[in-house]
Order: sequence, then structure tokens, then C-alpha cells
Amino acid sequence: MNRLLPKKKTRKNSSPEKINYLERVRRKFAVLKMKHGESWTCPYCNQPTTITEPNLDNQLITTSISKGLIDINSLVGYRGILIACPNEKCKRLTFTVRLSKIYYDQYSRWRELETLHTWQVLPESNAKPQPSFIPKQIVDDYTEACLIKDLSPKASATLARRCLQGMIRDFWSISVKSKKLSDEINAIKNQVSSSDWGAIDAVRSVGNIGAHMSQKRQNC
Ligand SMILES: [Zn+2]
Repeated sequence: MNRLLPKKKTRKNSSPEKINYLERVRRKFAVLKMKHGESWTCPYCNQPTTITEPNLDNQLITTSISKGLIDINSLVGYRGILIACPNEKCKRLTFTVRLSKIYYDQYSRWRELETLHTWQVLPESNAKPQPSFIPKQIVDDYTEACLIKDLSPKASATLARRCLQGMIRDFWSISVKSKKLSDEINAIKNQVSSSDWGAIDAVRSVGNIGAHMSQKRQNC
């Protein structure tokens, strides 16, 4: 790995102007980090919160693995971001790993160049917490749809469609002679905004891809 690295620069001969510039860069990144922390919302308890040092561990792990050993810019590293929710009633862990191309910048620091892949390790699903009055079957379908959305988008869309059907039957107590979801959705067309109805019908349409093999699935 050392053969790939430029000679480390020393600050022994740095001018005061250069030191001031480096300090401004350091402060800039510190502020960015703080802003990121302020906007964080816990995926378990859904509480917006400020993440401070004891609850945050954010490290870039550099490696000697090079993608194709083409040049120094193709080295690969990974960043682990571990957050403990500061909410006393929650305190659960969120853990994300990001694999990136990395490079060694002119200030002798490793930087991420391009994200190759991101894994959300914890929580396993992006599902938002739901209030207790939502029927369990609907919450289960929703949680499962979120859990598999990357592994199987079609199966996830099918579950979202089933979730939608459950919501319409539970909330609007819709009763139509036809058992087709499209008829049930049409029955609530005048009870929701046009944008909401469009979103509902889009979920039905996409979910049909996994739910039916028929050529006429668009009207199911
Ligand atoms: Zn939390």
C-alpha cells in the first residue's frame, strides 16, 4: 500500500496563511458534521434529535484493496457509522456501512471519492414506527414490504398493494360487490385529494406486477 501513497507532507515549513486555511477547512467540516447530527431522526422512535460525540461513532477504515490496481484513486475503504439514540426511552442502535473509492488528499487525509455500495445493517428495515390503532396485519405487511424492498422490489410492491387494500377496507369500510382492488380504489376517489388518489392508484398498479401474471393485470 505504501508504494501507492504520495510522500506525506510535513507542516514544518507551512506558512501562517496555509495554517489558517487548514483551520478554516477543519472548522467547515466540523460544522457540516454538526448539521448532519442535528437533522438526524431515529428510525425506531421517529424522534428528531441532536447527535453528540458520545452517541456517534463515524470512522473511515482504509484498506490496501485497490479496485483493479489502476491508480491511487481506485483504493477502496469503508465507513462505519454507529449511532445510539439519545432518547432515554429508546437507546437503540443504528448502524450503516458505506463502501467507497478513497484517495489521499493534499493535506495527507483520506477522503471518500465515490460510493460503491451502502448497507443499512441496523435497523434491518426502513419502516417507520406506526401508532397502535393501525391493525397489526397492515403494520406487518408494511414492515415486511420495507424489509425486502432492495432484495425483491416486486415482492415488496405486492405487499405494499396488499397493505393498501387493508387500509382501504379498514379506514373507509369500503364494501363493493367486485373484489378487485381497482374498484375499491375507485369507490374512494371522491374522498381523497387527487394527488393522494394518484399515489394510491400507482401503488396498486406497481403491486399488480408481482400479484398477477395476467396480461390484464393493470385493471385488477
Ligand atoms: Zn430512538
